[in-house]
Amino acid sequence: MIRPRRFSGRDPSTLRFPVPKGGPWAAPPSRRPRARRMASGGRLLVASNRLPLRLTGGAEDGWSCSPATGGLVTALEPVLRRRGGTWVGWPGCPDAGQEALAQAAPALVGGAPYGLRAVSLNREEEHCFYQGFSNQVLWPLLHGFSALCDPDPEYWRSYREVNRRFAERLAEVAGGGGTVWVHDYHLMLVARELRELGVDGPLSFFLHTPFPPGELLESVSCGHALVEGLLHYDLVGFQTEQDQAHFVDAVRRIHPEALSEAGGGVELTFGDRRVRTGAFPISIDFKEFFGAAHNPVVMGMAWDLRRRLGDRSLLLGVDRLDYSKGIPQKLRGFRRVLRRHPELRGRMVLKQLVIPSRDGIPAYRATKVEIEGLVRAINQEFADLDSPPVEYQYGSWDRMELLAHYREADVALVTPLNDGMNLVAKEYVASNGGGGVLILSQGAGAAWELGREALIVDPGDPDAVARAIVEAHSMPLRERRRRMTSAQAVVRSRDVHRWVEGFLSRTPRMA
Ligand code: UDP
Repeated sequence: MIRPRRFSGRDPSTLRFPVPKGGPWAAPPSRRPRARRMASGGRLLVASNRLPLRLTGGAEDGWSCSPATGGLVTALEPVLRRRGGTWVGWPGCPDAGQEALAQAAPALVGGAPYGLRAVSLNREEEHCFYQGFSNQVLWPLLHGFSALCDPDPEYWRSYREVNRRFAERLAEVAGGGGTVWVHDYHLMLVARELRELGVDGPLSFFLHTPFPPGELLESVSCGHALVEGLLHYDLVGFQTEQDQAHFVDAVRRIHPEALSEAGGGVELTFGDRRVRTGAFPISIDFKEFFGAAHNPVVMGMAWDLRRRLGDRSLLLGVDRLDYSKGIPQKLRGFRRVLRRHPELRGRMVLKQLVIPSRDGIPAYRATKVEIEGLVRAINQEFADLDSPPVEYQYGSWDRMELLAHYREADVALVTPLNDGMNLVAKEYVASNGGGGVLILSQGAGAAWELGREALIVDPGDPDAVARAIVEAHSMPLRERRRRMTSAQAVVRSRDVHRWVEGFLSRTPRMA
């Protein structure tokens, strides 16, 4: 079923003082707070697990630095570049701190347009906080893959400790001023820790992933502490209204005494603090993608790509390695097209880029093995064609190469099983030459905004994916252009700068 295309930042909720639940997942009792104030407005302080760059190497051989990948970085980096501020996060390598950052990226750390402050994690914390609790408990839980959760009390302890360290660093950097905006599932307890440090100014949080149904949170031992942790923020933002409603449902189940319903809406209060919630679908810098796709170098690369394709249609997949991205299901859908439609064999090529991610985690390695096995099997099955129907790459493309593919692709196959937003969908729309068709999963947050322009599919059903591929292939050019123009208008009018303004305008001001 297609999720309804709705879009607003409506505010539900009132929670009265929730009673903290006990057990091993409960946060520790409050340490005595010193009253400290952080004013909202002014300087923007962003905290996310990762900084927009990744350090590799070490103190002995020297550090080197490369850009980080992923949707959060793509969205936030232009915002910080335009507005200035400070980005607090982990440089992505054990034991790399501020000194390593200053050594590897002196121009970035010392100069405009925004500051970077490192939070260092040691190897054990990388294992327990990052690989463990964040990516083997929270990520599968939030995406509805709870069977893949690997809970371990040690992971939880480390998660709390690292959240505490982020809070300390934020309190230090804020020095009494700035708008504090914490991002994503790695840092759900930072506000609680900041409150314990005596910070009483407004704190905001945005969750980039989906938020699962309340009953799921209620059923896991860490669910109570996580929901309570989020209630220490003044504003909690989600990608869609569905995620927001799931959070309110989780509060209703875990702290029913604290939610009040009035005038057709609900309100949350936590102690004497009102907790706002809202849906704020994240986006991209439309102008940047649109403009760069018209850059002569990109246009030349796109032309080259088209020349190599000959008269074959280009179907494009760009996904980080993740079981939630539905890559094997997509490949099966494509294989079904080739099996059922001999007339289309040799007429289309699926180019699938898989960006390396979390390959230290068994479920990710298994997904990679499955993908690569399927690619091999499909190419063997259709080995009599002039060229293999699937071109698979495991790695990453530079910006120009990515844009050339977006520009030239006849079809983008964006079919995650469950995804907070999926920025690849929006990037494709912003960069495409105008005749491309977006095939979009109903499980992607982006379907809420692009449900009319895209071909919406159930990503778990290879028949549905196959039908959409055939429909996209045979869609008249006029219809393709009409849909793409309309999709571009949607993404242009709701770009990442509007997302930030929308979010920050809901951030409560200091009393
Ligand atoms: N991307 C990248 N390197 C590449 C290809 C793509 O960093 O080689 C970017 C892409 O531009 C997009 C992000 O990776 O901004 C993927 O974001 P998305 O929201 O689709 O998924 P996420 O990785 O956040 O789950």
